[in-house]
Amino acid sequence: IRMLGIETSCDETAAAVVAWREGSPPRILSNVVLSQLEEHAAFGGVVPEIAARAHVEALDGIVEAALAEADITLDGIDAVAATAGPGLIGGLLVGLMTAKAIAAATGKPLIPINHLEGHALSARLIGDVAFPYLILLVSGGHTQILLVEGPGRYERWASTIDDAIGEAFDKTAKLLGLPYPGGPNVERVARSGDPMRFDFPHPLKGEARPDFSFSGLKTAVRQAATAIAPLSDQDVADIAASFQRAIVETLADRVARSLERFRAERPQAPAPTLVVAGGVAANGPIRAALLSLCDKHGFAFLAPPAALCTDNAAMIAWAGIERLHAGLGADAAADAMELAPRSRWPLDLNAAPLVGAGK
Ligand code: ATP
Ligand code: MG
Ligand code: FE
Repeated sequence: IRMLGIETSCDETAAAVVAWREGSPPRILSNVVLSQLEEHAAFGGVVPEIAARAHVEALDGIVEAALAEADITLDGIDAVAATAGPGLIGGLLVGLMTAKAIAAATGKPLIPINHLEGHALSARLIGDVAFPYLILLVSGGHTQILLVEGPGRYERWASTIDDAIGEAFDKTAKLLGLPYPGGPNVERVARSGDPMRFDFPHPLKGEARPDFSFSGLKTAVRQAATAIAPLSDQDVADIAASFQRAIVETLADRVARSLERFRAERPQAPAPTLVVAGGVAANGPIRAALLSLCDKHGFAFLAPPAALCTDNAAMIAWAGIERLHAGLGADAAADAMELAPRSRWPLDLNAAPLVGAGK
């Protein structure tokens, strides 16, 4: 199967070609990502209208580049997979319309993909990860733990009750006067800071429920910063380091609940795996903490390379291949031209993208 993937749900315009045949590992023939970071930097966050316009301008060229790099034409593709949600509706429309045009022009099936399913299955693009496994998705828009039992078969075990973890990084960075995107900059300045100077709260730590919360932490950071303003460079570094310590410790405590649950419910699983994905998975101290947590609980830990952790179209193409192979997606193809994107689309409900207008 040779699959063209298209991803436009947030601020990356991406297209990729992935090939797979039964019995051999998948091959990423191309994986082209255009980040809109610079367009949004001045606003300190993603501006939906700017994102949609940038997708319109860039997508055709990105698809062409992905095909050229894979040394293939549309005739050589077996199907098109496009992100149909969740995300910013303008960008989703651009990606889905382009995929429909390609499907209509070539007569090939169109497979609508849930962006979260792309993240959830991406580990299987690079490693031999068997179902079931746990995925921790930590990005600017999502913080959740999913049990992955197979394509289309997910259970959400934990999610944030307020802010996403990447949002907490971005807001803290803004407060400290660090440039957007916040995460990498908080991590960078934290290296020269004292993580013990401030004892920020650890929301939900120690509680039996497995969920995440970050808004209390954000408030505490703001209060600490206001109390000692104006901030010296050392103050900024100390707050960043203390914030990151609180995040790391909270995350480890929260994730431990789900590892314990997996152990209790599936004692027979021989080599359980925790996979991490999303932009925040690039954070060094977070990776280190998750690795030692997994060691302690007898889990294998898999962190795909950054290019597959952050938003990309190879994971969307791969999810399309997994769905086709599992016999999912053929139904949707019949109604492909009627598909409408969904800005909200929880993965665990397995709801199909909308078919027909006005629904
Ligand atoms: P979505 O949530 O829809 O998947 P997104 O664009 O918000 O999309 P990503 O592109 O996967 O998500 O990740 C971006 C987020 O990751 C930002 O919040 C950014 O601050 C954070 N991030 C990136 N690098 C680091 C890092 N080294 N440490 C902490 N956070 C980071
Ligand atoms: Mg992004
Ligand atoms: Fe994403």
